Amino acid sequence: MKKASLSVHAGTRRDTISGGINTPIVTSSAFDYLDQPEVRYPRYFNLSNQQAVVDKICALETAEDGMLFSSGMAAITAIFSSELKSGDHAVLLAGLYGGTHDWAIHEFANRGIEVDFVAPDTQAIEHACRDNTRLIYIESPTNPLLRIVDIKAVAEIARARGITTAIDNTFASPILQNPIRLGFDYVMHSATKYLGGHSDLCCGIVVASNKRITRLRPTAVRYGGSVNAQTAALLERSLKTLALRIERASENALLIATALADSDGISQVFYPGLKSDPQYAVAARQMSAFGGMLSFELAAAIDPVAYQRRLKLIAPAVSLGGVESTICQPVATSHQKMPDADRQQLGIGPSLLRLSTGIEDAGDLIEDLQQALGD
Ligand SMILES: *Cc1c(COP(=O)(O)O)cnc(C)c1O
Repeated sequence: MKKASLSVHAGTRRDTISGGINTPIVTSSAFDYLDQPEVRYPRYFNLSNQQAVVDKICALETAEDGMLFSSGMAAITAIFSSELKSGDHAVLLAGLYGGTHDWAIHEFANRGIEVDFVAPDTQAIEHACRDNTRLIYIESPTNPLLRIVDIKAVAEIARARGITTAIDNTFASPILQNPIRLGFDYVMHSATKYLGGHSDLCCGIVVASNKRITRLRPTAVRYGGSVNAQTAALLERSLKTLALRIERASENALLIATALADSDGISQVFYPGLKSDPQYAVAARQMSAFGGMLSFELAAAIDPVAYQRRLKLIAPAVSLGGVESTICQPVATSHQKMPDADRQQLGIGPSLLRLSTGIEDAGDLIEDLQQALGD
């Protein structure tokens, strides 16, 4: 089956009591243990509503197994906790999602884990590997400049050295990019973003081989970051439109990026789907389309806060991946905590705005972005 069909159908557990065609929401936290082969409990990550979501994402990511968490951070930290112990070294990208960066800075040291932060570049990643490196953890496309990492090349470097690989696939979604097919071991998503897609829930998911999930599971159960049946069911419903939403957001983002690249008042557009983007070839090789995220640099004369206030349709907001378009200024949001010098090194200045393209009409969005350029 193709992804549009898997988005709708994979994982559904029909209701055997009523004959309903949707997965019934089973809200129990207490289950019969005498006549059930498996003891069910929300924190054991084995509710049918949790499992329906896991099965759908596994089908879309071509993964054997997975676990659904109460947030993206719970999913990420489960991978770190399962794969890294005292004395190990990890290679992480510089400029990862702020929460991931923050966790690595504060919690790795507590646990005796060493870390290097490197540029999103195959050679830099290879260079940082040592004898005790156990994990390479990346994002692609990256936030907020949409840099592309060659996933297959990194997987090959890691495999040759026996290093585990994990990727935060939130920006691409399972519709556009499947890192397990390219040789990665773990794929995680903040399901709060595109998977949920309506800016109304918080979840995270990890998928990998049976073997890795079997090892991850007891750690995850100990930490306890599971999600309730209602939220899992809401996520399952949202996922039925995932392929449609991603397709539309990608189309819109390409049209917007093309229009903005020609606009006075915008000095640079970052979108890997533009043929002029130096990363276009790698992106086109590993992604089926280029996604809904893009960023752009306003001309120095335009005040970025005033610009956002002049927008009529696009909402200034943190988070991303909803059906509605949202915009944010990374220096004031995702990268607020980062020291100025580090931000400058990454190329993230006050004039940079990040757009999460929704599924509205592309013409309406372009008109809004352009009318706000004039005052
Ligand atoms: C939001 C986000 C996370 C963290 O997810 P939460 O659901 O907020 O815990 C991780 N990675 C990326 C790329 C994100 O955008």
